[in-house]
Amino acid sequence: MNKFYAVGTQAETQVLHDIDLSIQKGEFAALIGPSGSGKSTLLNIIGLLDRPTSGKLYLINKETSHMDDAELTRLRGEAIGFVFQAHYLLSAFSATENVMMPMLMQKGRPNTAMRERAQALLAQVGLAQWQDSMVGNMSGGQQQRVAIARALALNPPLILADEPTGNLDTKSTDAIFELMRKVNTENGTTFLMVTHNMELARRCDRIIELVDGRLVPSAGVPV
Ligand code: ADP
Ligand code: MG
Repeated sequence: MNKFYAVGTQAETQVLHDIDLSIQKGEFAALIGPSGSGKSTLLNIIGLLDRPTSGKLYLINKETSHMDDAELTRLRGEAIGFVFQAHYLLSAFSATENVMMPMLMQKGRPNTAMRERAQALLAQVGLAQWQDSMVGNMSGGQQQRVAIARALALNPPLILADEPTGNLDTKSTDAIFELMRKVNTENGTTFLMVTHNMELARRCDRIIELVDGRLVPSAGVPV
């Protein structure tokens, strides 16, 4: 798979070169590499937020290159939960309402089952007492827990996390990582996590390294 930006212009640049990668169901993989090496671009392509310029992407055994935008959106909704560093939570809404959001986008109207599922997910991430708190009043670590609960809302088989602990102190970083690991073990959810934290990367099943848009050949060897 290859990715170019600004195709056909003077600014045309190739940011991903010959990426040949497969991630197994249930794996917890770290994606590392210097700033600008293409990590977010790769994550966005795997997350169907962007398309490769050439090559193929299989997601849960479906080949995505000839899907139209509506099909991609549907598959994304079914298959993927996102956790970003800038977590795009709605700060003026409660934790419960934020976690219900993906369910609302899918089903339209709120109902009791949705609310109960959101509350159960918040309990799973250790925020039972905070379920009715406004997200804007919560700490960075708590907000990231809400973001993880929201990513789990539709029970996706794959979670993509782009520097999920990038803004957190050491203690919250550890807690958030342990939480994602627990979800991985208990639910069998596959994780691909971009991180600059080598200590965390070493605790993953596998380290995938990008340098200048190319996979470092050792990628794929379990650590
Ligand atoms: P990382 O997440 O590893 O820091 P990125 O995937 O964000 O790297 O970026 C990889 C390269 O692609 C960088 O050189 C960046 O400037 C470039 N890039 C990222 N997004 C765009 C875009 N939308 N248009 C043009 N160039 C981009
Ligand atoms: Mg990035």
